[in-house]
Amino acid sequence: MNAEVLIAGAGPTGLTAAIELARRGVAVRIVDRADQFSVGSRGDGMQPRTQEVLEDLGVLDQIRQSGIGAPLMRMYAGDEVTWEGRMAEPVDPRPDVPYPNAWFVPQWRTEQILRERLADLGVRVELSTALVGFEQDATTGVTATLERDGGAEVVRVSYLVGADGGRSVVRKTLGISFVGETDEQVRMLLADVRTDGLNHDLGHGWMLDDGRAFFGFTPLASGPDHYVIATQGVAGEEPDLSLDYLQRTLEKASGRTDIRLHDLTWITLWRPNIRMAERFRDGRVFLAGDAAHVHPPTGGQGLNTGIQDGYNLGWKLAAVLGGAPAELLDSYEAERVPVAEQVLGVSTTLLKKHLDGDADANQRGEETQQLGLSYRQGPLAVDDRSNATGLVAGDRAPDAPCLDADGRPVRLFELFVGPHWTLLRFGSAAPDNSAVESYEIGSGIFDAYGHAARAYDVPAGTSVLVRPDGYVGLVTSSAATLEAYLGRVIAMEPELSDPGRTVSA
Ligand SMILES: Cc1cc2nc3c(=O)[nH]c(=O)nc-3n(C[C@H](O)[C@H](O)[C@H](O)COP(=O)(O)OP(=O)(O)OC[C@H]3O[C@@H](n4cnc5c(N)ncnc54)[C@H](O)[C@@H]3O)c2cc1C
Repeated sequence: MNAEVLIAGAGPTGLTAAIELARRGVAVRIVDRADQFSVGSRGDGMQPRTQEVLEDLGVLDQIRQSGIGAPLMRMYAGDEVTWEGRMAEPVDPRPDVPYPNAWFVPQWRTEQILRERLADLGVRVELSTALVGFEQDATTGVTATLERDGGAEVVRVSYLVGADGGRSVVRKTLGISFVGETDEQVRMLLADVRTDGLNHDLGHGWMLDDGRAFFGFTPLASGPDHYVIATQGVAGEEPDLSLDYLQRTLEKASGRTDIRLHDLTWITLWRPNIRMAERFRDGRVFLAGDAAHVHPPTGGQGLNTGIQDGYNLGWKLAAVLGGAPAELLDSYEAERVPVAEQVLGVSTTLLKKHLDGDADANQRGEETQQLGLSYRQGPLAVDDRSNATGLVAGDRAPDAPCLDADGRPVRLFELFVGPHWTLLRFGSAAPDNSAVESYEIGSGIFDAYGHAARAYDVPAGTSVLVRPDGYVGLVTSSAATLEAYLGRVIAMEPELSDPGRTVSA
């Protein structure tokens, strides 16, 4: 089968986009120039909004089984405890927010879970396969050159997604500037190790160099003695990327020799790189994830933002390939550029707090959870009401526990799972449309506890159209407005769709 979409890069961004395309029946290839899958814990902080995305992708159970909540961190002087606390205190789930706390899963494991989901959909990552160049024409497609084992393959596709990381070949080939800075003054050594002599239920840290540097262990869910180490290293010394260097630095910081490090599986010297591409699209070629924006890890946002880029782009590409108007693709950049700007602002502010040694530098609040990110100002947000106060079109569609016609519990998020648009009709007078999955709240779905009414807060006779990526697209009481809106975002004429395409949730 010839691919309709080529994805360069099989990190979390490319994998998410690939799943979104494959589960809509789009022929997709995903290539990675690496000869083996990545092993580092890297982006291990899974934000609440990302957990919701992963529920829709069908992998949240594996993610939950493979992770842990934010551990309690202890600081010591030698073996005396001097401080303890958490990045954020865990809070209880709410009807509208089922996963309110960050969840920590090593990135290599998240990628493995996404790859398995993609394989279930019939698509395998092609390793040792690098995108080395491409050309596009405005109307028909992209001709890309792949290199594998010294040989070249020329591929013709309708669209190319550059999910090829911070050094993106796709971005460079398009000549798109990556505006921002790399701070050579700041560094952090990160390493995945196994450690004897520490309580794995906790994080542990010591100060170095009279408080100017830090040596910390955060437990990893991958094993009972697995930790990620973070340290700036000893001032004035060029850090050596070795287990021996880490052991010596630990002993210097803690004064203890009973904590033994072994089995180093990943180590990197990280410098803050804060950059954003000037554009996320050029014709039939899109940039997503780190290829489009790179973040300091302070906010735990990079992987999360990349997954959501892939999630935003995947359904749109599939819709346009299925016959929806091509203008739908303009909304990718219009929606994701402001989000990337906002998220970069958050993680940069947190990095500054770290560098300034602010007392609350390790505290995380709602700004990092990505639940409040909205596409209100984007081209797909249409709201009939002039005086709406709470939820409006463009916002994340909240969850709400309800009951089905047999009195069984059903959450709105369960209705959203899958590749479709969902119409929530509040009252029998609300407009309906057979092109989408439609539910009447009050008949078929019962808002027995009032959660849906509270979260959506719309008058009877209103329909709320929820996009495939879980944002409110339209709020209307007009059937004509609903039909016109759907004409912009899905293939309305059956003969325009590919009849051979199958869809799996
Ligand atoms: C030390 C560290 C800590 C981090 N901590 C966090 C955190 O706590 N939370 C968080 O959200 N994020 C964190 N991040 C960021 C997170 O790891 C990245 O944002 C995330 O990996 C981006 O995913 P991606 O798929 O866009 O790119 P990547 O994961 O970089 O994947 C890009 C892929 O493209 C491949 N590739 C490159 N060029 C080509 C080519 N020409 N052809 C084919 N394939 C190619 C690469 O081999 C790679 O597999 C951290 C990153 C680092 C380095």
